[in-house]
Amino acid sequence: MKHTLPNLPYLYNALEPYFDEETMKIHHTKHHQAYVDKLNAALDKYPKFQDKKVDELLKELNKIPEEIRTAVKNHGGGHFNHSFWWPMLKKDTKFSGDIAEAIKKKFGSYEEFKKKFTETALSLFGSGWCWLVLNKKELEIMTTLNQDCPISQGKVPVLGIDMWEHSFYVKHRANKPAYLEDFFHVINWEQVNKSYKKG
Ligand code: MN
Repeated sequence: MKHTLPNLPYLYNALEPYFDEETMKIHHTKHHQAYVDKLNAALDKYPKFQDKKVDELLKELNKIPEEIRTAVKNHGGGHFNHSFWWPMLKKDTKFSGDIAEAIKKKFGSYEEFKKKFTETALSLFGSGWCWLVLNKKELEIMTTLNQDCPISQGKVPVLGIDMWEHSFYVKHRANKPAYLEDFFHVINWEQVNKSYKKG
């Protein structure tokens, strides 16, 4: 079983004017595709691991043969993180449901959460992701470097943002705060509620 690139549940221009069509297209067809291809290439010599889902591989990285462990962490992580991300993006959904209540309880208000999440994302040096995760049923904001995935640390991702330059540089250039601001317009709260319920 080869890993494959998932289709986007919308058109490349669906998140305009916040996320531009060109970035979405390159991000999906080039960057995500490369993670899928390199993950498959790493697993080529290890049939035993080829039938495992990517989250199963990432949950137990210590069981992956040392020769391909870094490749699985990087490219498997890239595949998982982007597969998580695409359906988590949608315009005009409402901050509501159980996750909205939980965020208000944990952070005080939507605005406080947005502020804290933005600060944490902007504090990341280099490439990586900023996440809202469930850590033993508790909401927590965290960052990961490169394509490291929260599930490798036993945490359940609820919401995340790709802080690699390939995710914003065409439109936002070096203006990371503007990218963060736009991101909050395209969070699919229906999907975030689903991820929260799974945790
Ligand atoms: Mn990316």
